[in-house]
Amino acid sequence: MEIVAGVHQLKIPFPEGISGDTNVYVVEGSEGSILVDTGWDSPDGLMAFIRGLEWDRLKLSDIQQIVVTHIHPDHYGLAGKVKELCGAKIAMHKLEGELINLRYVNFEELLRKVEVELASYGVPIGELSGFAKASLWLREFVSPELPEVVLDEGDEISNGAFNFEVLYTPGHSPGHICLREPTKGLLFCGDLVLHNSFPHVGLHPQSGDNPLGDYLDSLKKVQNRSTNFVFPGHGPVFNGLKLRIEDIVRHREQRNMDIINALNGDLKTIYQVATEIPWKVEAGGVAFEDLGIWDKRLAVRETAAHIRLLALQDRIGKIDKYGVSLFLVKD
Ligand SMILES: [Zn+2]
Ligand SMILES: [Zn+2]
Repeated sequence: MEIVAGVHQLKIPFPEGISGDTNVYVVEGSEGSILVDTGWDSPDGLMAFIRGLEWDRLKLSDIQQIVVTHIHPDHYGLAGKVKELCGAKIAMHKLEGELINLRYVNFEELLRKVEVELASYGVPIGELSGFAKASLWLREFVSPELPEVVLDEGDEISNGAFNFEVLYTPGHSPGHICLREPTKGLLFCGDLVLHNSFPHVGLHPQSGDNPLGDYLDSLKKVQNRSTNFVFPGHGPVFNGLKLRIEDIVRHREQRNMDIINALNGDLKTIYQVATEIPWKVEAGGVAFEDLGIWDKRLAVRETAAHIRLLALQDRIGKIDKYGVSLFLVKD
């Protein structure tokens, strides 16, 4: 579907059994098209991509560059296959490029780090292995391919009709980027800002030291740039970027308060705190025990990201005992 002149949105479904889809965008220009994100590498994903191009009368061979906002499988999974089909160059932030091998190819070391990480969060020993392996199935939906073009803040990408600047917006992922077209007021923002859900931000071995702090700084960076259309990685295209960012910041502050209230004067692990606060609040709220193992791991890591920020702000203190971290609200 052509949303504004020259910008087409294709919806790529998640693999069978998971609801949702990824928005990918084809941006046409006299010097070829730019593809922003690709969706999962599944047979249905590839078919949706090819049919979406045909539906909008777009030619695969026109795609010159695949810009990946971040390497989560729902944005990057299909990039290798698309490159194989049309020869386009893959471009992403240098930090994302550095994670590909460790996450999707030689991942044994990461798996060991994840077990140590989750043990320090207080995940019970009986659940540790299941938690650590909760994302291994994702690799099946990624054809890992290293970038030929490495991007950084302020780089420019042009196709004759659109002149994008690269904004470095870490937090959701350490090398997450957005593309901004200043003269047309367009922002392609991956998973930085979504209209009808709150993007996940979690602390883990590949997240950087303070992902939530980075994420809030990234929101500030884009908040006041004049924007007519926001093209997110999921959900509807929207305007009103500033208001939506205010919602997200309020949500994050509420999470901080939920965590401080859950600690309630006691020493607790990250896992204990995660079990005591509601999840999926934008969908009405779900108790931790009712989440699947993948969502439980996301919940624990998101709690860890908040607690890291609160500790850096000196609002929470930490004690390490036998490889497990315990936290207490400071007076
Ligand atoms: Zn993502
Ligand atoms: Zn996503």
